[in-house]
Amino acid sequence: MAKTHNEQLVKIPILDFTHQYKLIKEEVEQAVKKVLESGAYILGLNVEAFEEELATYLGCGYVISCANGTDALVLALRALDIGSGDEVITVSHSFFATSEAVALVGATPIFVDIREDDYNIDTTKIENAITKKTKAIIPVHIYGQPCEIEDVIKIARRNNLYVIEDSAQALGAKYNGKFVGTFGDVGTTSFYPTKNLGACGDGGAVFTNDSEIREKICALRVHGSPKRYVHDFIGYNSRLDEIQAAILRIKLKYLDLWNKSRAKIAYLYSDLLKNTGDIVIPVTKKNCTHIFHQYTIRTKKRDELANHLKVKGIDTLIYYPVPIHKQKAFDYLNYKNFHLPVTEKISHEILSLPMYPELSQESQRIVVEEIKRCFV
Ligand SMILES: *Cc1c(COP(=O)(O)O)cnc(C)c1O
Repeated sequence: MAKTHNEQLVKIPILDFTHQYKLIKEEVEQAVKKVLESGAYILGLNVEAFEEELATYLGCGYVISCANGTDALVLALRALDIGSGDEVITVSHSFFATSEAVALVGATPIFVDIREDDYNIDTTKIENAITKKTKAIIPVHIYGQPCEIEDVIKIARRNNLYVIEDSAQALGAKYNGKFVGTFGDVGTTSFYPTKNLGACGDGGAVFTNDSEIREKICALRVHGSPKRYVHDFIGYNSRLDEIQAAILRIKLKYLDLWNKSRAKIAYLYSDLLKNTGDIVIPVTKKNCTHIFHQYTIRTKKRDELANHLKVKGIDTLIYYPVPIHKQKAFDYLNYKNFHLPVTEKISHEILSLPMYPELSQESQRIVVEEIKRCFV
């Protein structure tokens, strides 16, 4: 266990929701109580209001909420009529759900490599991966930093492809002053509790400026039903519930503040970690706001460092230890001899440090002290 100055044993978790809850406890408990008393639990006033408030925040036409971020991707793909026989270009360095959604609609994920500086899609590799079957590109804004989304859009327009932005890790981040999730034909996000805007349970949303896409997604999330007992497509049961919407409406008001404190924490980490062994600290690209869903460093001594910190009571995580194209679930794609050099290399080197808006400077200093101890 790491020790503070007065030699107390400490435990530093990778994240801790309890601080945030204390901050908004009264507001949240009031709002939840109101929902409970209202007797309206599904697709009621809070869902409607939250969708409008998030659309206003993002400056996009429509937000359609749903049950989780994976469903948001599935709904987006279905709304664009992507399915069996189609190919979708995406990255292997992401949470599994990005590619899982593609497979769930019957399409095939085609993986391209990432950049070594920001771990986002390498846009110079996209055009080589396009075939006659390609229908869409799903870039992911990984760790809270926008990918080169304007280049992705240009490539898509040139090749007549859709863009679905997986913004699950970057809600509130901007590229050239515009929120990610609003560049593509459709954007998606997740309100899983660990995300920057997290519910107290599952949730997700789709963003679009296109009213037809909106209508289709609204129908798909309720069994393909544009009006009660009329079913135009085979759809899903995928809705955000009123309690989660009521909580998210409160949390949305704090999102910018919390994202700013994440960035402040990140820049202190970077400052303190300068010139420590072979550690590569995260870059923030020009024209981007990085909202540090994760603070992810790289080192050749990753496993040794993770172990050292664990023994000292400091939690770290590897996002993600196994690239998606190496997962057993995708064995059927025959990727055995397929290589993504950057994706594979960094999967052995990345390590995410404790990061949440209320992480104290004292905890950060202990984390850094212990990291330095591992490099002397
Ligand atoms: C969390 C996440 C998802 C999936 O969201 P769920 O709400 O857990 O289904 C998809 N893509 C990325 C990049 C994520 O981080």
